[in-house]
Amino acid sequence: MAAGRRVSRRDFLKRLGTIGTAIALGKSAGNTAAQEKSFVVKVFSTKGRTAKSIIEHYPEVENKEISLYKLKGTRGELRDAMFKRSANETKTLTPPSEKLKSVLHTHMINSANSSLTRDYKIKRMMLPSPEDFLTLINFLKKGLIKKPIVMHVATIDEKGKLIGYVSARFGEKFLRNYSIENPRMGEVLDEIINTNENGLNTPQRINKYHGLVQRLREFGIIIKTTPTKEYTTKRGYFERK
Ligand SMILES: [Zn+2]
Repeated sequence: MAAGRRVSRRDFLKRLGTIGTAIALGKSAGNTAAQEKSFVVKVFSTKGRTAKSIIEHYPEVENKEISLYKLKGTRGELRDAMFKRSANETKTLTPPSEKLKSVLHTHMINSANSSLTRDYKIKRMMLPSPEDFLTLINFLKKGLIKKPIVMHVATIDEKGKLIGYVSARFGEKFLRNYSIENPRMGEVLDEIINTNENGLNTPQRINKYHGLVQRLREFGIIIKTTPTKEYTTKRGYFERK
């Protein structure tokens, strides 16, 4: 049995530190004007549009991530959190604020390993990544954002069409488990990190990752799938009808 490289949550969070800082500080320091220009910045108006419409009309959504957020008391208006967007870098400007109600970002099946079947590309991309879970958990833990908060991951097909949402809701029970450092929950989070680090490039590893994410339900993360009308959810996976 090949032993994978073990990554501790502490190391993982350290690496995430840079992302967290970029989000917390908004415009990150150290970018030259020329660098700034090489990114697409605020190209799209989200006003009055539904999430599906924003996602499917956003430029190059099939190949580049987008990120949106909703604040409490704004009648469901979605805001564009994109700050920088290029082929290999995406930076978001979601304000970690007490008013934050939900965050949404896209995962593109085009970025899955090309040797996977289409079904497995969808399975690979539909769930939140360890970074997604831990960034939010870290913000909650530091009190930068307030529970309950919902994270939506929108899976995007090869042509830029929405396949469906996977939504994770972090509430009171989850934070209690986190604050007492529930060792069982810690083990599951560590396994999630390690499974991802070893590469989600075979059906077996992808299935393992799904199983681990489902286990987070035990600790108070509510996970829901909402497919679009061409798809259905079977055993937790999006499948074409
Ligand atoms: Zn993600």
